[in-house]
Amino acid sequence: MDHVVRTPTPPFATASGRLEVHQVPAWRDNLIWLLVDTATKEAAAIDGPPAADEVLAYCEARGLKLTAIFNTHTHHDHIGINQAFEQKGMLKDLRVVGAKKRADDVPGITEPVDDGDTLRFGDVNGKVMLTEGHIDGHVSYVFEDVVFCGDTLFAAGCGYLFDGPPAKMHESLKRLAALPPETRVCCAHEYTEDNLRFAWSVEPDNDALAERIRKVWALRAEGKCSVPSTIGEERASNPFLRFAQTTVQKAVADAFPDDDLSAPVDVFAATRRLKDRKDYRERPDHVLPLNE
Ligand SMILES: [Zn+2]
Repeated sequence: MDHVVRTPTPPFATASGRLEVHQVPAWRDNLIWLLVDTATKEAAAIDGPPAADEVLAYCEARGLKLTAIFNTHTHHDHIGINQAFEQKGMLKDLRVVGAKKRADDVPGITEPVDDGDTLRFGDVNGKVMLTEGHIDGHVSYVFEDVVFCGDTLFAAGCGYLFDGPPAKMHESLKRLAALPPETRVCCAHEYTEDNLRFAWSVEPDNDALAERIRKVWALRAEGKCSVPSTIGEERASNPFLRFAQTTVQKAVADAFPDDDLSAPVDVFAATRRLKDRKDYRERPDHVLPLNE
């Protein structure tokens, strides 16, 4: 399957160089992240579609040894990688971390985790956050200045509310947004251009957003990946974190004039519903701030 990312984001270090984060594009727009212990070359895959061969080839080419899978949630394009390793008879040798709440749905789980738990990898302690709203039992993993947030927070967007209710996603996003601004957001898909088209339709007076659109369009024109972003960028330009902005409030009030939008969670929920209508996809490119 052709991947929308032709040139992945190069590996980057965290935890004072004790860990590295690698990106392996898979399927059409999935991003598999590998957390690598730089001392032992052991790697943990964070989610993935059934793409064991790509991950194994990547590891072999770089002298890495895959020893773990950390699952954020149980959708097929995230636990498919567990099933792929199971078919190869290799899952039983892996450490598999997933949400305690959905332990029965995580193939090969060896380490069920819950909100606030510590997750050790190499000699670094990560932290587990329960970040529901997209699906029940969705967890995110924080390792120093990196968060693996699956389908909860996306670059310039957020996941669909399959299980909801909106209040759960709203709470999860607020908790993620409260991470330090330099935290790198390693979400699970390259959806950023579409997300930014919507963002611009609800907040066309945001200079940081205009700047981000120009930056992302330039990256994507070369087939490069726009992920990770940072929590600081998301706070400045992600409409699902910007429910307090008058411009966003006005855009959703215009779209849903009969709704009570007095609480922040109502503005968030209406923003999500407005994106789900997909009207913004009809807007021509010339409305975007690309030539300024
Ligand atoms: Zn999902």
